[in-house]
Amino acid sequence: MLDQANGTRQVQTLSRGEATSDGAGVKLHRVIGNRALGELDPFLLLDEFRSEDGADYIGGFPDHPHRGFETVTYMLAGRMRHADNKGHSGLLRPGSVQWMTAGRGIVHSEMPEQEEGLMWGFQLWVNLPAKDKMTAPRYQEFDPADVPLAELPGGVRVRVIAGTIAGVTGPVNGIATMPTLMDVELPAGGTFAHDLPAGHNVFVYPFEGDVSVGDPAVAVPRGTLAALGPGTRVSFVAGSAPSRVLLAAAQPLDEQIVRYGPFVMNTPDQIRAAIADFQAGRF
Ligand code: MN
Repeated sequence: MLDQANGTRQVQTLSRGEATSDGAGVKLHRVIGNRALGELDPFLLLDEFRSEDGADYIGGFPDHPHRGFETVTYMLAGRMRHADNKGHSGLLRPGSVQWMTAGRGIVHSEMPEQEEGLMWGFQLWVNLPAKDKMTAPRYQEFDPADVPLAELPGGVRVRVIAGTIAGVTGPVNGIATMPTLMDVELPAGGTFAHDLPAGHNVFVYPFEGDVSVGDPAVAVPRGTLAALGPGTRVSFVAGSAPSRVLLAAAQPLDEQIVRYGPFVMNTPDQIRAAIADFQAGRF
């Protein structure tokens, strides 16, 4: 059913990601927002951070600005403390979700609240449409218990951050690009299938174990991102070990973007304005 708009989505590109660091020396595996895959509209960046060595994350992400998009943090292990200049603060624990709409500007810090032991999670950047880039900042944070679990046949368990599956809806709401974000846990050999809107861009990222995606199946090893092509149905099968997969989808914006570090706008003039506003303390 290749290329059929209402069929199974096939793997379009595989992206292995690259090792980098950001903030004050935090080591990362950058899967979107690198040289090989600059963006997957509207997703601007995906980092997986995973280390048991405190030296890899202890510097954290001290005060820094954002404008023009949304940052999403999903924790798997460890604890991170968030604080921003709009008065929000929170402690992210395993299973916590933070969805921050930076809008016209925010300055925040994301700091580890541990010196050793496993720190593991994701940061995803989601673009805002041109008309919303200067919206007021908004902050949504959910404790692990507020992220509902959908139990599917065959022992498949889905933590639903955004979107709906099997009648279970994630807590994140009111996002312009209508995202789906799910943590899908499969037993060895387990199968997952779910329909997502045909117009959305979709990626699958196994972060434990390996999966095979689509039909005919393409092997996607742990730590590799598969961007999927046209269709509706997303399907994957775990390999010989249990697996966990980050599944994300959203409405592409199809607008020109200009990026400069933590600012993502539509024109060079808007980037210059962002730098000037930040330097003048207007965030
Ligand atoms: Mn940040």
